[in-house]
Amino acid sequence: MGIGRLQKLRPGIAEKGLDALLVSQPENYRYLSGFTGSSGWLLISDSHAILATDFRYTEQAKNEAPYCETTQVKGELHNWLPDLVSDLGWHKLGFEADSVSYHSYHKLSETIKSKQVNLELIPTTHLVEHLRSIKELEELELISKAVELTDAAFEQAKSIIRPGITEKEVAWEIEKLLRQEGSEGIPFEIIVASGPNSALPHARPTERIICSGEPVLIDMGARISGYCSDFSRTLSLRAQRSNPKADKTLQEIYSIVLTSQTTAIEGIESGMDASQADGLARTIIEQAGYGGAFGHSLGHGVGLEVHESPTLSSNSSDLLLDGMVFTIEPGIYLTGWGGVRIEDMVTLEKGKVRVLTKSEKCLSF
Ligand code: ZN
Repeated sequence: MGIGRLQKLRPGIAEKGLDALLVSQPENYRYLSGFTGSSGWLLISDSHAILATDFRYTEQAKNEAPYCETTQVKGELHNWLPDLVSDLGWHKLGFEADSVSYHSYHKLSETIKSKQVNLELIPTTHLVEHLRSIKELEELELISKAVELTDAAFEQAKSIIRPGITEKEVAWEIEKLLRQEGSEGIPFEIIVASGPNSALPHARPTERIICSGEPVLIDMGARISGYCSDFSRTLSLRAQRSNPKADKTLQEIYSIVLTSQTTAIEGIESGMDASQADGLARTIIEQAGYGGAFGHSLGHGVGLEVHESPTLSSNSSDLLLDGMVFTIEPGIYLTGWGGVRIEDMVTLEKGKVRVLTKSEKCLSF
């Protein structure tokens, strides 16, 4: 990354009539400055980019954020921000409403009042997130590496899953595989949900023993240089002859979810409303009679965060554009029986979807 991202943000700050923007969301200041510390604030005006951190991070900030002026601060926002901002002559300061806590805002307002500083605090949303949603080539490369890593870990994980193993054991084996392959920790808790547990879209692995013939839903991700991947597959250990009916239901539901996903992959185009994209997949599931069982959105952006802009849901106002990276993950969940979800990561290129995830989609193995 270079100074380009700061330059891209500046017109947006000016358009809002702000003298400067206070960036406090960690992935946002990382994106703009390169600073990876967990505590910091980035102040951006048309001529300044000031990275404020406490003594734990000052050295790191200087090394990681060469395009910013680094300043060491102490305490909470209200302890140092009013003085710093009035020294710079700023009167309208935007802040990220999704990231600054009510406590911080309240204390800051009180201090501004009591010190009689001529400073107006203006809430903003999605200024940086909007930029982040269109990936640069360098970002796409890191995301692709994280996707490859989940593909590789999944391939190896398949040999671990056998009747008698518990969900927790499988999750732990997958976590080890991801880390061995080079993932920076894991971006979210791995889901291994079998049988009825797979009806919970965000189930936690339990001591439940995996049996053949039932759905096993696996959802996992990797992280490379900050960039995440997100991946789901539903598998079933070959069923015994004793319960062919359950097996048939599973195959039927699996094929509906797969058709729904394929329809979205083939139909989504750049310039399409994200809500329309959601509709492509949802219609298939609704027409099959399972509309009520697909209770989450079709997908979400992935980048420095596992869930970021855009949102592919029925009430999203996002627009899908070239350079975006997101998931396509329809699912059907039936309480007491189980669930099926198939999730790929894709990018929009030259107007069309390019699927990044390579793992095969095969229920039985
Ligand atoms: Zn996801």
